[in-house]
Amino acid sequence: MASDPRPWRRLYKTAAWRRLSTAQKEREPLCRLCLKRGFANDGSLTSAGAPQSNPRRRHVVADHIVPHKGDEALFYDPDNLQTLCPDDHDRNKQREEVKGFSEERGADGWPLDPRHPANR
Ligand SMILES: [Zn+2]
Repeated sequence: MASDPRPWRRLYKTAAWRRLSTAQKEREPLCRLCLKRGFANDGSLTSAGAPQSNPRRRHVVADHIVPHKGDEALFYDPDNLQTLCPDDHDRNKQREEVKGFSEERGADGWPLDPRHPANR
């Protein structure tokens, strides 16, 4: 029998998650990383600050700061959420899978990711 590598995907289908992610996006409607780069992105821009031309990417997502890997306490912890644009979300996820943190740096040259060793 093939095993699902991400059995926690069911968590995203729960009403509790829908409520939590909606509340997160209401509390923090702008991408946190774009804001650190110096501009406000409510999903209408790319992570480079250009107009988002893809209508399916014109939104923001509630992202888990510490990867939950199925841990329900982390998954449902509102303090473990941040709002990201789809560009930043994808980039974070890819780097995270390799290293566990993002190498992206802000205007001051300091790493943006709270999980980066420099921020621990
Ligand atoms: Zn962004």
